[in-house]
Formats: sequence, structure tokens, C-alpha cells
Amino acid sequence: METTVALGGNPNSGKTTLFNALTGARQHVGNYPGVTVEKKEGTYVHNGYKLHIVDLPGTYSLTAYSVEEVVARDFLVNEKPEVIINIVDASNLERNLYLTLQFLERGIPTCIALNMIDVAKSRGIEIDSKKLSTLLGVPVVPIIARTGYGKHDLMKAAAGLAMKKNKTAPLKISYGDDLDRTLLEMEKEIEKKSFLTDMYPLRWTALKYLENDELILSRGRKEYPDMAEKFEKMVEDVSVHLHETMDIYPEAMIADYRYGYISSILRQGIIHRRDDQNRLYASDKIDRILTNRFLGPLIMLLVLMGLYKFTFTYSEVPVIWFERLFGWLSDLASANLPDGLLRSLIVSGVIDGVGGVLGFVPLIMFMFFGIALLEDSGYFARVAFMMDRIFMIFGLHGSSVMPYVISGGIAGGCAVPGVMAARTLKSPRERMATLLTVPFMNCGAKLPILALMIGTFFAKERALFMFIFTLISWTGALLVAKFLRMTVIKGPPTPFVMELPPYRLPTFKGLAIHTWERTWQYIKKAGTVILGISVIIWAMMTFPRLPDSETQAYEKQREAVKTAVSSSVPRELESANKETSLSPDARNLKDRLSTVDSAEAEASLRNSVAGRIGTFLENMTQLAGFDWRTNIALVGGFAAKEVIVSTLGTAYSMGQVDPEESGSLSDTLAGSPNWRPLVALSLVIFIMFYTPCFVTVVCIAKEAGSWKWGAFSMMFNTVLAFALAVLVFQVGSLMGY
Ligand code: GDP
Ligand code: MG
Repeated sequence: METTVALGGNPNSGKTTLFNALTGARQHVGNYPGVTVEKKEGTYVHNGYKLHIVDLPGTYSLTAYSVEEVVARDFLVNEKPEVIINIVDASNLERNLYLTLQFLERGIPTCIALNMIDVAKSRGIEIDSKKLSTLLGVPVVPIIARTGYGKHDLMKAAAGLAMKKNKTAPLKISYGDDLDRTLLEMEKEIEKKSFLTDMYPLRWTALKYLENDELILSRGRKEYPDMAEKFEKMVEDVSVHLHETMDIYPEAMIADYRYGYISSILRQGIIHRRDDQNRLYASDKIDRILTNRFLGPLIMLLVLMGLYKFTFTYSEVPVIWFERLFGWLSDLASANLPDGLLRSLIVSGVIDGVGGVLGFVPLIMFMFFGIALLEDSGYFARVAFMMDRIFMIFGLHGSSVMPYVISGGIAGGCAVPGVMAARTLKSPRERMATLLTVPFMNCGAKLPILALMIGTFFAKERALFMFIFTLISWTGALLVAKFLRMTVIKGPPTPFVMELPPYRLPTFKGLAIHTWERTWQYIKKAGTVILGISVIIWAMMTFPRLPDSETQAYEKQREAVKTAVSSSVPRELESANKETSLSPDARNLKDRLSTVDSAEAEASLRNSVAGRIGTFLENMTQLAGFDWRTNIALVGGFAAKEVIVSTLGTAYSMGQVDPEESGSLSDTLAGSPNWRPLVALSLVIFIMFYTPCFVTVVCIAKEAGSWKWGAFSMMFNTVLAFALAVLVFQVGSLMGY
């Protein structure tokens, strides 16, 4: 059997010269394009293995714009060569690799002949062919076609490639969020229809649609009119969208990303130039500052802090609006519904649940706006590029830094937008590991409980302890990521060269559209589920209700308190509103009534499913130093971490813990026999690592594409957190703390 090898490359890259050197045939050697439009064939024998060699016409691309391209494409489709030797002009690498990428995307086994290294050398350019080979995942052999230097090594590599059993998968380049989504959708359909699947990789066919490739378009129309119509509509839509948002069309975008891919490869120390100053493009000049070894990380930190500040500071006002709106709705419902279950359901279950979803909307919008700004401008790719080395150690990706920071890596973020921010990761395993570990960051909702614990038990070293807790959360997150990457999401780092697209000035309209699209996805995805779960949690903390006899007993206590004072005082209290100042007697009565209310709330909570769980778990949680009251607060913390402090307050009969009164909870804890600094430490560790709040769990499940991962993060994190807390508590106890 004979093996066909095609020689492909840009015009004037030296194909014909190499062809002559290999086959010994006399060929006309010219240096202007168009000379080799006709097909030339010859034979090369390598260790008795016969290779049939064909010189393809020179092309810059595999679209079908020129005669040469059509000839080359037809040959690749019809003759199905086993191997392509892609001749690349070493002195003009960037432009030549553009065609290389297309061969790789096309999925044909490719061997690169790095030609004209003599010319390159004379121009002061040296190329690290080994590194290039590793990054592209194909053999790269340096040659000088004119002298025949390297041709045997080249043919050895080509023959090896031809005999290799398992062919490498076609290269997948990301073309940005918009195009990637369209491509993916088309790929699914193409696979279902088996449209041209015997000829091209799925993504290739889809790409050709985006490039408006006439040949593919007409075949589509003929073979699957419905699909063709749908695809053309999709292409139309995404073109309009890109044009509106980025002022660019798909073909140009594709070219940009291909060049970005190439430039990210080339800048990893592939090309060594002796005279590099003058050749740089504007983007490269900017990069010399922004990705500078010392300045780069500094600027990055500032930018990330800026993004963080922007997200959490500027969203504060709209967040307050939303809070007001929901507060107002709550009041409205409270005022118009009779006291009882229905009111409690509407207020605590439904309005709080919907509020829980919509309350995040401003935050998410601001964050996505910031991310869109970084992404569209091209800076984000640089951040990932710089961080990649460190994060790779932990099985993550350079882009993971953003979700971590957003989730509270610096202090007080939120895991919900953090999980959403993980979308910027294109490599699936790294993305999954990021999704599952961002909840370990100290989000804003954990801060009150951290503050309470530090303020009560470590008051002398507040800043130090806050710093230590931040450090613990990062260390934990990175180590867990590493652990997950070695176990449940194991696998080699996704071979992924980051695209470094040129810097571009984003348009406001483009940013706005991108922001809204993603925000709306969040609302749609999370909204429905969260409402349902919120109602379930409400029910868990409400049912079963106290037996009537007990409720009546509390009512009697209230009556008794009221009748103990002269009758004018209760009346004063009833007619008072927030602004009126109360007489000392009325204040006193109010306090005593609220003590009864808290006692009732505590009894009712303890009696509920959540309370019973807390009590039931006490035997086990004692190992970590938690009593049943703490357990209830932790169960409540699943609804939202903010709830931990207020539930702890209720469970410790403190009634509503509002900021002015929180000192009292602190005093109670400090005075309680169940509490000491070690318990606080163990609790903080537990809270940092245990199950994410349910909104986050829903987002993880939705983003990971399966509820399995949502459930996993609940179980795994809780088990881990408990193990750590027990460890801290037991070792601490042994040491006498
Ligand atoms: P084609 O268009 O790809 O077929 O390119 P050709 O084989 O016609 O080569 C174009 C020009 O480059 C010719 O003048 C060749 O002599 C020259 N050339 C090809 N390979 C090398 C090389 O390795 N070193 C040098 N110095 N010149 C080369
Ligand atoms: Mg030629």
C-alpha cells in the first residue's frame, strides 16, 4: 500500500524546491505565485516504505476564494492524503502558521517542515522548533530545502505520522463567546445529520458556515434544506450581533482569534531575535508593559481590585433599591395578609426567595460589565496568561483568578457571580475545578459571622485573624482544586493555548449587550429553581409548628406581662411607631414582651425540622464543639450565609439581632459554657468550607450542566469542613485550649 503525502504551504515557502530535493525530479522553480497550479507528483522511499508525494499549489488559507485554494481543498477532500507536510517559512513564521492552524483544525495529520532556517538565521532570527512542536502538538523539523538539509529527518517524521494508529484530534480554537456558542450548536446538529462527517470534523463544517463558504453552503442547501436554512439564519444573527457589539464580522473575528492563537504560541519564547525593537506591533508594545514580569502582576492586581471595587461598590446603590423594593413588598404583604402561615409563606418563602434571586442581579450585572470590559478589550487574556503558571500547579487555569477574586478572594465578594465568572474558562476540567472551589472564598455573607467570632474571641488581633482566615481559604481552595484534579476530575491539563487577541477599544453598546445577555441567562437559569428551594427551606424552619398548648402558654405569658403594668402602658406601646420615643415603663414592657417572643421563636425553631436536625446532629457535632443551637444556625446558613448570625441570635434567645444589638449576642456567647476561642475557630473553619448556600449550589449545578455536581459540592464540602473542624477542635482540646 502506498502512502500519500501532500506538500502544502504558502506561496514561495519552498514547496517546489523541497519536492525536487525529495523526488529528484526536475521541476521548474519559480518565486511568484501561480507557478504550481498544476499538480506534480513523485515518489520518495523511506526505509523501503514508499511515499507518494504531491506538491499542492501555494495558498494562504483553506477558504475557497482563489483557484489555488480550490485545487488544494479538492485534493485534500478527494485524495485524502495520509499526511500533510506543511512547509513553513521560518523567516515569516506568524503569517505562515495561519495556514498551519487550518490544517490542524481540519484534522489532517500534519508535519511541519520549518524551511529557510538559513534565511531566518541571516536575519538574526532563531526558532525553537522543539518548543513549537510541543505547543502545536505536531512534529516540527527544521530544514533548508535548497540544500536538502534535514529532509531525511523530515521524511522520517512524516512516515512515522502516517503509520501512527491513533490520529490526533482536530485542533479546537476558541473564537470568543458568541461564535463558540453558535459553533457548538451547529456542531450538534451536524453530528445528528451526519452532514459531511466523513469528510470534515464537525467544527470545521460549522466554521465554514460562519465563513460563508460557498461550496459548503450549497451542499447544505441541497442535502439538508431545513438545517441549511436554520444555519444560515444563525450565521446571519450572530453576524448582526457581532457587528452591533464589536463592529466586526465573523470572518474577521475568526482571523483575529487565529492570529491571537499564533501570537500566544510565538510569545512563549519560540522566536529569538537579535534585533527585535522595531518589528513589534502596537499590541505587542502594550504587552511589553502589561505583561512585564514585574509591572504586569502589579497592574493586574490593581485591575482586579478595580473590578472588584467596581462590582461591589457601584452595585451598592441598585442593591439597596432592590432591598427597599423587597422590604416594601414584605411590609405590604405583612400589612394586608392575616397573621399566620400564609403570610409567613409569602413573606419568608416567596418574597425572600425571589428577592434572593433578583437581589443578586445588580451585582451580577456590574460584574459582567467589568468582565466584558476586560474581555472585549483583550486584557483578560493577558491576566490568564500571567497567572497560568501558578494556577497550573493546582490543576487550574490562569483565568481562574477572576472567579476567586469575585467570590471573595480578597474579602467580601459573592460566590454566585464568582461561579458565573468561571465561564471565562474554556478548558472544561479546569473550569469544573474552579466552579467547585470558589465557594471556599470568604464571601460577604460569611463576613458577619467571622466578624462576630473574631470580635468575641480574638478581639486583640482582629486584622491578623482576618488575614489568617483569608489565607486559609485560599490555601484550602487551591489544595482542594489539586485534590479534585487528581481524583474526580482527573486528567491532563487541557492542552490549551490561550488566545492573545489584539487590544481593541470596546464599544459601550457592545458591553451593554454582552452584560445584559449574561445577566438574563442568570435570571432565567437560577430564578425558577431558587424560588422552589427557598419555599422548602422556609418549610423546614417552620414545620412542624409548636403544639397549640405551648403557643397558648406563651400567649398567657404575654398577657401576664401586660397585666402586671398599668393599662395605659400597653396602649402607649400599641399606638407607638418607630419615631415616637417611649416612656421608660413602655420600653421596659417592650423588652419583656420581646423576651417572651424570642423564647417562643427559639422553642418553635427547635421544634421545626431544621431544629430537629440540629438537635439530632448534636452528638456528632460535639466532636467539633458545636451544640444544637449552632447546628440550627448552620442548617439555616444553607439558605444564605447571612442567616447564620441571625439564627444563632434566635437560638440563643436574643430575638432579632440588629447591628446595634449584636454586642449582646457576643456577650452571651462569651459567657456561655459551650463556647471558647477553640470552638469559635472550629466554627469559622467549618463555615468557610461547608456547603455553599443554595443559590450558589443551583448556579454550580446549572453551570456544570448537571445536578450531580451541585449535590457533590454540598456533600463533599460539608464532609471536608466537618473533618477539618473536628481536627482543629480535637487537636486544640488535646493541647489544652
Ligand atoms: P513554492 O512557491 O512554495 O513552490 O516555493 P519555491 O520552491 O518556488 O521557492 C521559492 C524561492 O525560495 C526559490 O527561489 C527557492 O530557491 C527559495 N528557497 C526555497 N527553500 C529555501 C531555503 O531553504 N533556503 C533558501 N535560502 N532559499 C530557499
Ligand atoms: Mg512552487
